[in-house]
Amino acid sequence: MQESSKKEAQRIGIAMIAGLIIGLIIHSFGMNQYMEYVKPLGTVFIRLLKMVIVPLVFSSIFMSMINLGTPEALGSMGRKAVLYYFMTTAIAVFFGLVFVNIINPGIGADLGGAGLDKLNSTMAQKVQEQEGLYNTVLNVLIDAIPTNPAAALANATVLQIIVFAIFLGVMSLYYPDRSKNLKGVMEDVEGLSMALTHAIMKFAPIGIFVLMMDVMAKSGTTAIISLSKYVLTVVVGLLAHAGFLLFVATVRLKKSPLYIIKNLGAPILTAFSTSSSAATLPITMTAVEENIGVRKDTAKFVLPLGATINMDGTALYESVAAIFIAQAYGYDLTIAQQIIIFMTASLAAIGAAAIPGAGLITMSIVLGAVGLPLEGIGLILAVDRLLDMFRTTVNVFGDCVGTIVVDSLLKEEKV
Ligand code: ASP
Repeated sequence: MQESSKKEAQRIGIAMIAGLIIGLIIHSFGMNQYMEYVKPLGTVFIRLLKMVIVPLVFSSIFMSMINLGTPEALGSMGRKAVLYYFMTTAIAVFFGLVFVNIINPGIGADLGGAGLDKLNSTMAQKVQEQEGLYNTVLNVLIDAIPTNPAAALANATVLQIIVFAIFLGVMSLYYPDRSKNLKGVMEDVEGLSMALTHAIMKFAPIGIFVLMMDVMAKSGTTAIISLSKYVLTVVVGLLAHAGFLLFVATVRLKKSPLYIIKNLGAPILTAFSTSSSAATLPITMTAVEENIGVRKDTAKFVLPLGATINMDGTALYESVAAIFIAQAYGYDLTIAQQIIIFMTASLAAIGAAAIPGAGLITMSIVLGAVGLPLEGIGLILAVDRLLDMFRTTVNVFGDCVGTIVVDSLLKEEKV
C-alpha cells in the first residue's frame, strides 16, 4: 500500500471520529442550529465527488472495453460480475432474516411514531408511487438503454451511461479507423478524472468531519436508544455479512483481512459518511486499482456497475425492516411470506438508487409484496439516516470484494 493512501485513510478516520464526538456534544448542548454555518463544507465535498462521476464512469467503461479487446471478454466479465452480485445479495438477505428471527426486535415495539405523514411529503409520495417488483426490475433493464445519450450524461444516469459507453466501445473495436481520436480523448478524460479524484481526496477529512458532525448533531442518541433492538439487528446482520465478504476477499486475494481493510479504508469511511455509493465511486475506483492492485480493466467495468445495482447492505436492511414492521404490527409471517421477503428484498435493492435514503423508498415493494402497511415505514424513519451509513458501507465493500473476486477468476481462466 502506498504510504500516502495509508495516511489518507488515517486522516479520514480521525476526522470521522472527531466529527462524531463533536456532533454529539453539539446535540447535547442543543446547538444544532449552528450547523447550517458549517454544513456547506460537507455539501461542497459531496458535490466535488459527484462532479467526477460522469466523466469517470463514461471514460472508464469505454477504455475498459477498448483494452479488453473483444465483446466476448466483456461478456465473460459481465456474467461473472452479475452472478457475484446475485449470490452475495441473497446471502446478505439470508443473514438479515436469520438475525431478525433470532433477536425479534419488533415484538413489543412502540407503534406511537408510525405513519407515512412522518416522512417529508416528497419522500412519502415517492414511497406511495413506487411500482411493484416486476415493473421495478423490468424498468431497471429497459431504462438502462438511453434514448438520448446526451441526456443520460447530463442527468448523471449511471446505468445508461454504462450502456452507451459499452456500445461506443464495441463500435470502436469494430471500426478502429474511426475511433482513433476518440480513444485518445477518452484516455485523457479518464486519467484526468482519476487525478481530480486524488485532488478532491485532500479535502476529504474536512468534508467527512463536517458530514459526521452534522448527522450526529441532528440525530443525537434518543431515537437510537428507543429503537436500539432494531438498530442492533441491522448492524449485527451487516457486520456478519461484511465478515463473510472479508473472508471471501481474503481467500481470493491471499492477503490478510487487515491488509484489505487498511487498503480500502478511504472508500469504506467515505461511504459511511456520505451514505452514497455513487458519490463514493471515484474514491472506490482509485483505492481498488491503486491500493489493492486489481487490474484496471476489471475495476473500471465491475465497480461502476456494482455501485449501481449491487446493494448487499440495502437488501439486508430491507428484509430486517420488513420483518421488524410485521412484528411491531403483530403480523405472524409464514415461512412462505418470509421467502417472498427474501426474494423481493434481494431484487428491490437492485432498483434502489445509489444515493442517501433510496433504500427506504424501495422498501415499499417488500412491504407491499406481503401485504404489510406502508405506514410501517414511519416506525423506522428516525434511525434511517444512521442505518443508511452502515448499509451504504456494506454496499461499497461488496462492490470492492466483487471486483477482487471477478479479477481473480479472470486471472485463473487465463492460466
Ligand atoms: N444509500 C445507499 C447507497 O447509496 C442506498 C440505500 O439507501 O440503501 O448505496
